Amino acid sequence: MRRGLIIMHTGDGKGKTTAALGLAIRAWGAGLKVLILQFIKGGRRSGELAALDALGIEVRQMGRGFTNTGALDEHKAAAKAAFESARKEILSGAWDLIILDEINCAAKIGLLSAAEVLELITIRPPQMHLVFTGRDALPELIDAADLVTEMKLIKHPFQNGVAAQAGIEF
Ligand code: ATP
Ligand code: MG
Repeated sequence: MRRGLIIMHTGDGKGKTTAALGLAIRAWGAGLKVLILQFIKGGRRSGELAALDALGIEVRQMGRGFTNTGALDEHKAAAKAAFESARKEILSGAWDLIILDEINCAAKIGLLSAAEVLELITIRPPQMHLVFTGRDALPELIDAADLVTEMKLIKHPFQNGVAAQAGIEF
């Protein structure tokens, strides 16, 4: 009997989402059913979407794009809708692994409460793995997780004025 894990990728260094995608590919290759829910969607279509589409790994972009654009109420409503959708998919038991990408950020900026995010953990079927990503993970979520990895910023090309590049950042 498999034991579902709560896996957390946090910290200020690059690699949280890409590590989760690597895990998605590993899980898919092992025959697990994988769903990726993106809580804060970026402005452009990332390269990984084409790859995931080709494999048939389902990705749903929810949320309203970068949080510094648009009204806060709109972002709150979008985050709630994303939360409800996550809740439904977790309860369905149809998935072996669900990635909740950038959910930590939605919680950190108050679009979702810690209690709501903790609820997702308590309602899941015991064999389901959940992966949470995003900087500034709430301490309550770190406590609830089984596996926590902090990506630590040591250097990033942005610091030297190198702009985001296709295939590396998106
Ligand atoms: P990635 O998607 O590359 O794994 P991430 O999920 O760890 O990165 P986020 O916090 O989600 O990083 O930030 C998303 C975007 O910001 C990515 O384009 C990423 O390259 C960039 N980024 C991540 N860390 C840093 C950093 N320390 N300084 C500047 N930009 C960063
Ligand atoms: Mg990310």
